[in-house]
Amino acid sequence: MSKVTEVSKLQNDASGGPAATVVEAGSPVPEDAQIVITIDGPAGTGKSTIARQLAERLGLDFLDTGAMYRAAAAIALDEEIDLADTEALVARVTQADLHFDWSASPPTIMALPASGGDFAPLDHRIRDADVTSVVSEIAAIGALRAHMVRKQRIIASQHPHLVSEGRDQGSVVFPDALCKFYLDAEPGVRAVRRAAQLIERGEQPDIDELRAQIERRDHLDSTRSDGPLLCADDAVVVDTSHLSITQVLDRLEAEVRARLAQDADV
Ligand code: C5P
Repeated sequence: MSKVTEVSKLQNDASGGPAATVVEAGSPVPEDAQIVITIDGPAGTGKSTIARQLAERLGLDFLDTGAMYRAAAAIALDEEIDLADTEALVARVTQADLHFDWSASPPTIMALPASGGDFAPLDHRIRDADVTSVVSEIAAIGALRAHMVRKQRIIASQHPHLVSEGRDQGSVVFPDALCKFYLDAEPGVRAVRRAAQLIERGEQPDIDELRAQIERRDHLDSTRSDGPLLCADDAVVVDTSHLSITQVLDRLEAEVRARLAQDADV
């Protein structure tokens, strides 16, 4: 079967702009391609799974920015930092120098302990219920967001083949991303998906309570003044309520490849 060759003129910059490359349809993006794809949306839309698998299909790295905010929340809880003392919290998170171990799949979030010593993984902690219940409050701190945005752009400059997933990736962090997606789903569907994840972890969630928590988190995330959850004007919106993961992935992959082909024609 003959392969279609897609040529794109992509530029290299940390805000996600494209740089010159040649991409074969159905194959990973070549090493020298510089591409940022953003996936934003509320909790439970399948963003993380989709972002991770899209990155795999295209041969890109996967950045879970929610893990960074969750790590900040885990540090605050475990070190009993007063959440109202935002200065102390931001100072400690800055000192923790959050970064990912890219040799793991998916990459593991790591932090420097307050007591000093080597980086330690936080992945075992960041999905716990107490972390989830405070993360949106912590993510609303402007100085913390500014720190995270800086870190995310540094990560993109070091990993210029990136699918970056979160709430503000297309709107704030990478405004020039090659492709921006906004995934959405009905709240009831999102609660059922979240329940399935928790059951898999051996928990017995109350679905109504989960739905209320998701709606509370969406509200906090959408109404904060810095980097709120919003759909960028140029994002492709996909409602995943009645789609399988494969259907969503096929749609996103086709869009990315079409965008590469379109750039090639300019
Ligand atoms: O995506 P995830 O559910 O792991 O994100 C956890 C929380 O982190 C979100 O509810 C939101 O408050 C915060 N977050 C954010 N900006 C991002 C990613 C996550 O504010 N880019």
